[in-house]
Amino acid sequence: MAETPSTTGYDYDLIVVGGGSGGLALSKQAAKLGKRVCVLDFVKPSPQGSTWGLGGTCVNVGCIPKKLMHQACLLGEAIEDAEKFGWEVEKANIKHDWSKLVMGVSDHIGGLNFAYRVSLRENNVTYLNAYGVFKDAHTIECTDKKRKVTTLTAEHFVLAVGGRPKYPDIPGARELGITSDDMFSLPYAPGKTLVVGASYVALECAGFLTGLGYDTTVMARSIFLRGFDQQCAEQIAAYMSEHGTKFLRRCVPLSLERIEPEADSATGRHRIRVTWEDGLANEPGSDVFDTVLFAIGREAVTSTIGLEALGLKANASGKVDAPLEQTSVPNVFAIGDVINGRPELTPVAIQAGRLLAKRLYGGATTQMDYANIPTTVFTPLEYGCIGMAEEDAIALYKEENIEVFHQYFQPLEWTVAHRPASTCYCKLICNKLDNMRVIGLHILGPNAGEITQGYGVAFRLGATKDDFDMTVGIHPTCSENFTTLDITRASGLDPGAKGC
Ligand SMILES: Cc1cc2nc3c(=O)[nH]c(=O)nc-3n(C[C@H](O)[C@H](O)[C@H](O)COP(=O)(O)OP(=O)(O)OC[C@H]3O[C@@H](n4cnc5c(N)ncnc54)[C@H](O)[C@@H]3O)c2cc1C
Repeated sequence: MAETPSTTGYDYDLIVVGGGSGGLALSKQAAKLGKRVCVLDFVKPSPQGSTWGLGGTCVNVGCIPKKLMHQACLLGEAIEDAEKFGWEVEKANIKHDWSKLVMGVSDHIGGLNFAYRVSLRENNVTYLNAYGVFKDAHTIECTDKKRKVTTLTAEHFVLAVGGRPKYPDIPGARELGITSDDMFSLPYAPGKTLVVGASYVALECAGFLTGLGYDTTVMARSIFLRGFDQQCAEQIAAYMSEHGTKFLRRCVPLSLERIEPEADSATGRHRIRVTWEDGLANEPGSDVFDTVLFAIGREAVTSTIGLEALGLKANASGKVDAPLEQTSVPNVFAIGDVINGRPELTPVAIQAGRLLAKRLYGGATTQMDYANIPTTVFTPLEYGCIGMAEEDAIALYKEENIEVFHQYFQPLEWTVAHRPASTCYCKLICNKLDNMRVIGLHILGPNAGEITQGYGVAFRLGATKDDFDMTVGIHPTCSENFTTLDITRASGLDPGAKGC
């Protein structure tokens, strides 16, 4: 409880429900603007019992551990390359230690959890490790780990509760399956793994597991990376397939069943029989796996936070409408993954949170701009993009009104390493009706995230194809390909990789 009431007569000026990416950024910004702020953060354990510290999804079970595991996978590839660059590598001695990776990752996360607590304290934000349930628009009941209940009031509330992975409604899923909530702290090496889903989380996890040497299969009902450019999505799947990931397409799991009652004493794993419906065959498929990871989407955690006491309704995915981050209850706001129709990304939650605090308490008027947000999928072949997928651009503007410039390329680093020439790819989608404004940028290749971030600025400035052409490239880089694109899809010319 706050030591002295805020000037508004409530316990706090602002209570933020959820201490993830958005909630932490917003609460610190509001406190910097002189407000009395409390942030509630409480993690309900996953069905497998995984739980974690302050910081939300990104830090504990999202961006951070997954990028570190992706890096572990890239290092494995780099060892292969190193030999071609003259390093003498004893191949027989190269193996990967899962528990060492998990330990390194969890140590880093532990440090971040601690740093977040310190920074809340330094910013005079009260942090309660308690679960919040609304009683009315100005009152929330907070229950801590020991079931101690405290009732707090505030002038403003912000919902920043994020989301959790979904499970399919099939026998054995919750008992035997895991999700990304468990993957990055798995206490045993995953072994032969089935990844169910076609989301970026599914492909990223399958990518690094394959790279670490685990027999990995992706089971997808429909298209990969819905919402992303489908040409690029298929190229990612093809690359993964060439590098050992197996794919079961048009398949849906029906049941999971434990084969033996006890876990294997040597590996700590249970053997799980999975049966699935195979859309391409007449009979169900079946196989035995050590680990089954569900990555079939996420839902916002709003069913247990007392939305009814606010008179707020969530949609089927638990999300709430909050245009300009304000819900239909005037003093209740929302940011991050809980908002309906917004990209589920950490920097989006952070930016929206900071801007909201400045508008509420700093006299600012700047609104969050959700357009043209750059993003990257960290599959073994990384994929960065901004703006529209090609099929969406065609649907909106018609094929004759867009021009697609594209090119396969071979990163210089891949030449001596004898990696394939025409795997990496970039394309610009331009709007002929608007001075060849670039409305979509896509790149498949190493460091796609680093490359794509800078072009995000170009998109904000409304860059045209001419601006890209007039930009002098940096040689030899992958990114320079964007400054020399001259093959259009319409021309039918071969966009295969050219020499230096
Ligand atoms: C595997 C994976 C990989 C990802 N990779 C990336 C990436 O590479 N880049 C990227 O930008 N984004 C990535 N994301 C998405 C990113 O993690 C989210 O967009 C981001 O964390 C959303 O922030 P948030 O503040 O909305 O919610 P969260 O970070 O989810 O935080 C919400 C917090 O609120 C707590 N909470 C919920 N209800 C209550 C309550 N009633 N009382 C108290 N506390 C409560 C939750 O336990 C949680 O700690 C990834 C996500 C996953 C799952």
